[in-house]
Amino acid sequence: MAGQARGKVTVDIEECKGCGLCVESCPPKCLELEPGLNAYGVHPAHYTGHDCTGCGICFYCCPEPGAITVYRIKAKAKTPAPVPAQAQGGEHAAAL
Ligand code: SF4
Ligand code: SF4
Repeated sequence: MAGQARGKVTVDIEECKGCGLCVESCPPKCLELEPGLNAYGVHPAHYTGHDCTGCGICFYCCPEPGAITVYRIKAKAKTPAPVPAQAQGGEHAAAL
């Protein structure tokens, strides 16, 4: 699923037990298990680096407190659309 990322996830690979619940639960499928092993001898999860929405589902389904941290990216404030001259009182509107 393409699109601008709205979140980011980090996984502490030494806390991860490699259960894969986060990988299965992530709606945009942006988590995967690493090919390498951690100190527990399991394949830890990691973020692919794309498409995280910051929904937090992976955090809530992870059985290991502290293994996953979710960051939400704040949306930029929208620039107000320019107001047409007529709406401002026309070309001869008084200057403030
Ligand atoms: S916060 Fe949501 S989108 Fe991001 S990795 Fe976790 S489950 Fe996937
Ligand atoms: S749910 Fe938690 S313990 Fe399981 S693979 Fe994901 S980060 Fe690791």
